[in-house]
Parts: sequence; C-alpha cells; structure tokens
Amino acid sequence: MSCCAVHERALQDEVLKVTGLTVYRERQLAIENVSFSLLKGTDTAIVGPNGAGKSTLIQALLGILPRQTGEIQVLGQPVSKQGKLDTRVREQIAYLPQSFLFDRLLPMTVQELVGLGWDRLGWQLPWQSHNARQRAIREALSRVDAWHLRHQSLSGLSGGETKRVLLAYCLVRPRKLLILDEAPAGLDVRSEGAFYQLLKELKQENGWAILQISHDIDMVRQSCDRVICLNQTIHCQGTPQVTLTAENLSLTYGSDFVPYRHSCRDKQGKG
Ligand code: ADP
Repeated sequence: MSCCAVHERALQDEVLKVTGLTVYRERQLAIENVSFSLLKGTDTAIVGPNGAGKSTLIQALLGILPRQTGEIQVLGQPVSKQGKLDTRVREQIAYLPQSFLFDRLLPMTVQELVGLGWDRLGWQLPWQSHNARQRAIREALSRVDAWHLRHQSLSGLSGGETKRVLLAYCLVRPRKLLILDEAPAGLDVRSEGAFYQLLKELKQENGWAILQISHDIDMVRQSCDRVICLNQTIHCQGTPQVTLTAENLSLTYGSDFVPYRHSCRDKQGKG
C-alpha cells in the first residue's frame, strides 16, 4: 500500500480528532493544548490524578463545556466552539456518565428508558417496525444481562443495575463512538468482567471507538489499545506497554505515586 493510501485509510478510520484543545473553568486553566485522535475499533483510556482535567476533556468533547482554543472533529465533522455538532454525527456518540441523577419519582420502567434510545432514531428510520424496536430493546438488555429487569421501575435499581441499563440505552442502536466516565464504578466483580468483555466485542465486532476515563491501571494495561496520561496537559500517550512506565506514571501522578496491583488478577495472569 502506498504512503498516500495508508494516510487515506487512517483518515477514514479516524472517529475523533482533537487538536490543541484548551479549556478554562471559572477562569482557571483546566486542560491545555491537548491533541490526540481515536481510530475505529480501538479502546483508549485517559488516566491521571483527581483534578487532572479528565472529566473536563470529555465534557468539552461532548460540547457540554465551551473551549477557549483548539479544534474537535467527530467523524470528520467539526464541533463548533459553542459545542454544536451535526445532529446525525451527534447520534453516533454514546455517553455513559459516572453517575446518573434523576428524579426517583420518575414513573419509567427499564424497557421504556432503553426504548427512548431507539426512538431517537425514528426520524432516520421511519420504516422500522414495532417488532424491530422490541427486538433491539431485548438484545440490548440481554447483552448487559438485564432483560429480567425490563418491567422494573428505574427508581428500584441498584447502582450497578442502573449502570448496566444505561449501557443498554447506549447499545440499543449502532454507534461509532462510546465515551465512558469511570463506567465500571459501582459494578460487582462479575458484572465488571462482563462489562470489559462487552467493550471488547463492541470494538472488535462492531468497530466502535471507545474512550474511557479509568483509575484502574492494571485494566488499562490488559484491555486498552492506547492510553493518554493527562495532568492538565498530555504528558505521554501511546500503547499501554510502552507508555505506562514507572517514570511516566510518576510524571503524571507525582513522584510519590505507587501503583496498586490487583493481586488476584496477577495470579490469574489475564484478569
Ligand atoms: P478530573 O476529572 O481529572 O478529576 P476535572 O476535569 O473534574 O478533573 O477538574 C479539572 C479542573 O477543573 C480542576 O482544577 C477542578 O477543580 C476544576 N473543576 C472541576 N469541576 C468544576 C466546576 N464545576 N466548576 C469550576 N471548576 C471545576
């Protein structure tokens, strides 16, 4: 393949491109000159200490926070400085927040919530039948092992169940980019394993690009294709094997950083 063809292919596979992104929060610099890109079918983790700007970065990507400088492109379409993005491109992004705040009196069942994720497609696929909708809801809930919760009201769910149901909301229709803010927090060990297996399937079988904030360095080493070490600015990025050195982690977290290792995962080898 020629050099131009390789470049062309990389552009086609580029789901997100961020160049020179700087964001202030209440006049304080939160992130500075951040640049990276995400390719189709890959999983990238953002690691860094509390206050490093990880959530700020994600919120700026989603257009929730305005940026001062820099460019953001999703699937080749620019995100405006005010956070506006072509609706069809926005529909390709799924976001799973760290916590989900809602009115506990909200009279909505699990399958009604997941169905809303499908209904947002209505204007794009008017020919889709009621059966297709029901099938999609069932598949999404089954993939996160939550089909049995379908008639339950949202207010009755535990934290871990809520996470799985929100993930089903993201899965109910095809997407190109999944953004996760410490998504496994609140999941038990069994659900966490299933969760990472599902992410692997989404990237390998469905070609989703995944961007996740994580505090689990072991998991990042074992499961992610790339890692971004952020502390206001990017200190280093690349494959976990090359990037997550003791030196780089000290640079990112501070010189007294001692990584915690999961002893049972180490014993099992692959976690
Ligand atoms: P992280 O997600 O890595 O913990 P954040 O993006 O939450 O970091 O925070 C980055 C910086 O922005 C910190 O200095 C933090 O104090 C500040 N910050 C976070 N949230 C707010 C907010 N709602 N208003 C003003 N400043 C904030």
